[in-house]
Amino acid sequence: MTTASVTQMKCACPSCLCIVNISDAIQKEGKYYCSDACAKGHTEGAGCSHAGCGCHA
Ligand SMILES: [Zn+2]
Ligand SMILES: [Zn+2]
Repeated sequence: MTTASVTQMKCACPSCLCIVNISDAIQKEGKYYCSDACAKGHTEGAGCSHAGCGCHA
C-alpha cells in the first residue's frame, strides 16, 4: 500500500458511467458529477457529452 488516496470515482448520476477526478468534478450536495448536465439531473435533456456515454435519458 502507498499513501496515495482515492482521487477518482464514478459520476453520481445513476445512468452515467463516467469516472471523474474529484479535483475537477462538479460537486453538488456532497456528490461528484462529471458534468453540469449530470449535476442538474439532465433536466435539459443533455448528456455529459463524453464519448461513448449515453447517460442523458
Ligand atoms: Zn456520462
Ligand atoms: Zn456524469
